[in-house]
Amino acid sequence: MSQDMEREFASRDELIAYVREQFPAADARDSSVPPTPGGRKAAETALQQIDPGKYASTRNFLNGAVTRLSPYLRYGVLSLGEVRDAVLEKVRHREDAVKLVNELGWRDYWQRLYAELGNGIWEDREAYKTGYTAKDYSETLPEDVVEGTTGLVCIDSFSRQLRETGYLHNHQRMWTAAYLVHWRRVRWQAGARWFLQHLLDGDPASNNLSWQWVASTFSHKPYFFNRENLERYTKAVYCRDCPMYGQCDFEGTYEYLEGKLFPLGEKVDRSGGSKSWQDNQKGRRNYKSQ
Ligand SMILES: Cc1cc2nc3c(=O)[nH]c(=O)nc-3n(C[C@H](O)[C@H](O)[C@H](O)COP(=O)(O)OP(=O)(O)OC[C@H]3O[C@@H](n4cnc5c(N)ncnc54)[C@H](O)[C@@H]3O)c2cc1C
Repeated sequence: MSQDMEREFASRDELIAYVREQFPAADARDSSVPPTPGGRKAAETALQQIDPGKYASTRNFLNGAVTRLSPYLRYGVLSLGEVRDAVLEKVRHREDAVKLVNELGWRDYWQRLYAELGNGIWEDREAYKTGYTAKDYSETLPEDVVEGTTGLVCIDSFSRQLRETGYLHNHQRMWTAAYLVHWRRVRWQAGARWFLQHLLDGDPASNNLSWQWVASTFSHKPYFFNRENLERYTKAVYCRDCPMYGQCDFEGTYEYLEGKLFPLGEKVDRSGGSKSWQDNQKGRRNYKSQ
């Protein structure tokens, strides 16, 4: 931001009007204003509300006790060390802090990789392990996903929420990314650019390297999911209103979807083993959200 820009405003509305005026091209591209308040005071309020114990047991659920600290961390309004100290202060037993501190560790890890790789985070770090090569994936985002008109209530809701609020829960990010890369066969870079355009916490390191993890260009297997998984962690809020229920793209067991999505099936784990996708699914549970 230029040093000459105004910094004091009588109200949030005044601030929004000023930013619109200063950045007309951005406003023309997307005029929605997410409700999340900025600034140190809002960050401190969010920090006071964290509940590390509840976080550990519920973070995978959409209505779980996630912190929503990411935009403040992204822009340095809060530091990782400060959040870690606040977490440790809140708990009686240090073990109760482990899950949340681990997640802060993921952010730190991606940042360190970014410092090492620079723009290399935009390149496939490895080949896809899906049975396809990069040229089999489209460079462009399907319009129905961007506009939220696929007919899949979950995906359309995630698309709208991304645009309107600038926030998606970690699981929603994983499902959307997996849908784009594995079901629609779109290059992860196109999805990553789309997320960065809208996420309030949009951060090249956490974003791109997570997309690469889903895609399998920075992990030894692709991440995918089925309807049961999505229904469980969303408490069915999307599935119960979905006209596609029982016949959507995500129906079936992991073995069935494995065969449908990845035609080379058993051969795609190039990490040395001949494990099936079901075994791979079990193996990945320790990583991040599963
Ligand atoms: C496809 C995809 C794209 C993503 N893009 C971004 C992004 O642009 N910016 C971003 O900050 N995070 C990104 N993440 C990571 C994660 O989803 C968000 O950090 C988290 O959902 C933010 O919400 P929260 O603050 O409520 O998280 P909480 O679960 O409350 O976690 C607390 C903090 O820990 C850190 N954290 C938690 N999970 C992760 C994770 N998996 N990787 C790295 N840090 C984590 C974040 O700083 C977060 O604010 C992405 C994940 C995926 C799967």
